[in-house]
Amino acid sequence: MAIMKDAFAAYREEMVNKQIWARGIADEKILSVFRKIPRHLFVDEKERGKAYSDHPLSIGYNQTISQPYMVALMTNHLNLTGKERVLEIGTGSGYQAAVLSALAKEVYTIEKIEPLAEKAASILKALSITNVHIIVGDGSLGLPKDAPFDRIIITAGSPDIPLPLAEQLNEGGILVIPIGTRHIQELIVARKEMGELIKKKECGCIFVPLLGKYGWDSN
Ligand code: SAM
Repeated sequence: MAIMKDAFAAYREEMVNKQIWARGIADEKILSVFRKIPRHLFVDEKERGKAYSDHPLSIGYNQTISQPYMVALMTNHLNLTGKERVLEIGTGSGYQAAVLSALAKEVYTIEKIEPLAEKAASILKALSITNVHIIVGDGSLGLPKDAPFDRIIITAGSPDIPLPLAEQLNEGGILVIPIGTRHIQELIVARKEMGELIKKKECGCIFVPLLGKYGWDSN
């Protein structure tokens, strides 16, 4: 993806320097992706002026696009080399998927709210991103037909690691997930070693709930 010379390029640079690099993410490949992807296209037109600010934003349907630093942090924990097939649960705006598309081989992303999935698909198409596959459904079930995956990222808060996702992760693979209550979670990074998930707590975080069979109840 070429560096976009749009009116927001300076805001992106400031976001990368003050919110991402200054907080310890130094991987040049990741920083360069955040400099290129036009985050303002993934938020509602009336929110564009806030697209590069240091917090999540509403994308409608009671859902959010995550804070830029959280997107960068989760991406960093995935330790991508460019060869991986990645599964994302919670497409939302499509911004995290766009970031992953530049750092991995193929990205499969599942969203339960159809209009969000459709909107994300149209933005990714406009950006000529062709290695992201958007699926509408309950992502807590994973995507058995395309499994296993080298990396799995869940961008909604879950009570625990959904069993199907643990099963669909490749040996040596990494899974990143916020786990906790419906309102507050801890970011967990898990690596599959000899069939077992070795889990590490990274930091506190706040995500909207993962709703579904292996997530929270919809009510
Ligand atoms: N990654 C997104 C982005 O870059 O904009 C942000 C995701 S937002 C914090 C969480 C998303 O997870 C919402 O769009 C929500 O509809 C979705 N979601 C919640 N439960 C889900 C499920 N079981 N399957 C798929 N998507 C789900």
